[in-house]
Amino acid sequence: MITVNEALSQLFSLVGEMPVEKVPLAQAAGRVLARDVAATRSQPPFAASAMDGYAVRAEEVAKGAKFTVIGESAAGHGFGGDVRAGEAVRIFTGAPVPEGADFVVIQEDVSRISTQITITGDTGANSNIRPAGVDFAEGEVMTAPRILTAADLALLASMNIPRVPVRAQPDVALISTGDELVMPGEAPGPDQIIASNTFGLKAMLDAAGAHTRILPIAGDNAPAMEMAFDLARGADLVVTIGGASVGDHDIVAQVAQALGMEQSFYKVAMRPGKPLMGGRFGDKAMIGLPGNPVSAMVCGQIFLVPVLRAMLGLGRAPCPRLTARLAADLPAGGPREHYMRARVDAGVAHVFSNQDSSLLSVLSQANALVVSPQDSPARAAGADVAYIPLF
Ligand code: AMP
Ligand code: MG
Repeated sequence: MITVNEALSQLFSLVGEMPVEKVPLAQAAGRVLARDVAATRSQPPFAASAMDGYAVRAEEVAKGAKFTVIGESAAGHGFGGDVRAGEAVRIFTGAPVPEGADFVVIQEDVSRISTQITITGDTGANSNIRPAGVDFAEGEVMTAPRILTAADLALLASMNIPRVPVRAQPDVALISTGDELVMPGEAPGPDQIIASNTFGLKAMLDAAGAHTRILPIAGDNAPAMEMAFDLARGADLVVTIGGASVGDHDIVAQVAQALGMEQSFYKVAMRPGKPLMGGRFGDKAMIGLPGNPVSAMVCGQIFLVPVLRAMLGLGRAPCPRLTARLAADLPAGGPREHYMRARVDAGVAHVFSNQDSSLLSVLSQANALVVSPQDSPARAAGADVAYIPLF
């Protein structure tokens, strides 16, 4: 049995970074920017008015000062001429500030009769002008890698980048195995249950940036599994669920090896999730998850999410951990690292009493996995513990 860290570094060695592709901005949300991109223009490209009002020369601004309005500058339609002493140009938000002007008096501080204006209010010191390039200058760079947020997309659009270089999404094939499984919505026989992990894992992996395909359930027989592996062909990562223990019907490794899978490890010193398997299928990776629903989901979080991040060029690191205080005493841990379902509220970790690896209802109430290291001593309420947030 190897440790969680050893298993993770072996898995990292099985995968490479995905190729780079360009996608339209409107499809880039949540994708991973693969290369630095530089602004192809400055924003704003000209000194722009921040308010509706009158553009004048700053040195003339004073209460009672009078000006003649000589024209208009609107957004998209600037004023071609100069502003000289005693002159003003009617201006609107986002419009270019005309040559000669360096102050915008807001319209609330002005009274106007025909083409004459008089400053009636206290204008203050703010010129109400956004200098050219105040947001960003041409050539300024958005750095990669990063997961593109809504704000990033707005910024890229403003930088005039219509197509964005991103990592291709890893194609993940998910194979559920077991004669007892049927899909949700089907009519299960008396000895059957509904395949559940598949859906939890698809949600988790897609949220981590994968394109996950749920393949038909494979029964516990070699031909069914061979067919499933055949359907998985072309995937960047093949993930099997179940059939990975040492029971008579646990034949996933056997079938995969007969098809050419080179196993790199089997069994990890962790709870839940001991029967985890990693291997190489040609130039692609295969990960065999345990079938118990919580084991599969915990292994998904601890191993698959970091592996996907590595494939997306986001670095090769385990899930980040935070610290909370124990709400109650925690007994000593065993020889396997234990990932305990817990709820962390306001920095306090409430570890659920029932940690059975089949209980999805408990996992669904949890928002954290409290990590109890190998052979950890008992800890008292109030002690600091490490946890991994779940989303
Ligand atoms: P196995 O690893 O195949 O022995 O499965 C361990 C346990 O997990 C058994 O109780 C299976 O019925 C259950 N199981 C396996 N795969 C799934 C799945 N996709 N959804 C829900 N339960 C599963
Ligand atoms: Mg099974």
